[in-house]
Amino acid sequence: MSKSKPKQASSEQETPLGLYLHVPFCSTSCDFCGFYQIQSDRKGILSYIDGVKRELELVDAGNRKLDTMFWGGGTPGLLPAADMLKVGAAITDELGMPSQEWTVEMAPSSVKRDKLEALKEAGVTRISMGIQSLNERLLDALGRQHSLKQIHKAYDLIREVGFHSVNVDLIFAIPTQTEEEWRADVRGALALEPDHLSTYCLTFEEDTALFIKLQQGKVSIDPDREARFYTAMWEEAQRGGFEQYEISNYARPGHACLHNVNTWKMAQWIGVGPSASSQWAGTRHTNTPDLKDWLAGLERGERGLVDRVVLNDGLLLEDSLIFGLRMNEGVDLAQLGQRFGRDLTQIALFDQLVEEGQAERVGPSLRLTPKGRMVADAVGEALLGSFG
Ligand code: SF4
Repeated sequence: MSKSKPKQASSEQETPLGLYLHVPFCSTSCDFCGFYQIQSDRKGILSYIDGVKRELELVDAGNRKLDTMFWGGGTPGLLPAADMLKVGAAITDELGMPSQEWTVEMAPSSVKRDKLEALKEAGVTRISMGIQSLNERLLDALGRQHSLKQIHKAYDLIREVGFHSVNVDLIFAIPTQTEEEWRADVRGALALEPDHLSTYCLTFEEDTALFIKLQQGKVSIDPDREARFYTAMWEEAQRGGFEQYEISNYARPGHACLHNVNTWKMAQWIGVGPSASSQWAGTRHTNTPDLKDWLAGLERGERGLVDRVVLNDGLLLEDSLIFGLRMNEGVDLAQLGQRFGRDLTQIALFDQLVEEGQAERVGPSLRLTPKGRMVADAVGEALLGSFG
């Protein structure tokens, strides 16, 4: 495929630009994981680095430079320090140093001083560490990848090397986990004094070990229990002085994840690596989720894009509302109306949400109330198809 000029819907222009890099390597597979990931070996890593360079050559960003960058996976931290520097340079040579934020996900077991120092030298500003739980029994239930000792050692090292922002991820509603254990996990994570906390309700992704247990009736889904865990989370975070800024995300002032915020606001992002998704050049698409197929496509000069959807203002407006309402600040209807050329002041569904106590109007903004946040998925479903 030859380079083609990016086409943009009028509402896409001048929105921030992010890059998401998917690093597909993991040392073992976690029971709950639905991401594309494979075991790492030297040959695979070398071909992956070569693929990243080739893919970047096929992305025509014109004169655009990156605002944010996020390396996720997989386990980006499994790459040796020298390889991280090579990949980082390949991206920044092509698209410039991200002007606002550069996040790299690390697993506690992959955190090493030389890697952190390489990332710092490359310009990384934010480390996100998936600790999952601070309870040994629950780490086992998740298919343990690290010990408590490794979590503390890795966290101290990250702080010692010194990054602007440090995030820790927790998982909740793990089978057999009690509400008190969840509260203890949140308190324990906050006691580390991170800048940001992300929390994920355990989901049962198809083809995972946990999904098979669900089908066998060995574990079950309990929405009431999940709701209690959400409430417990909000209470504990508030007590710890952390501000919730999105359904699952909390931060100290000035430490919200800008890459994710730009994504929720339907800006633009380029996905690089197998299974990475993009919203770029007029379409939303995903790279083929297989290292070999991705490389074979690049050999032919093609990015292997699947699930391609042509963007239009209706779709972007709808998703701006669905994802924007998951943020505590809500959506600025005047701004969105201007961006998409629509009058959003008299929408019956918004009035209904306000009447039912699920949303409130604050100046030109509409935002969910705590009651609305508990049913944010249902609010999103109600919005689906309303503006397309
Ligand atoms: S480390 Fe992360 S990406 Fe890898 S298997 Fe576990 S959850 Fe999935």
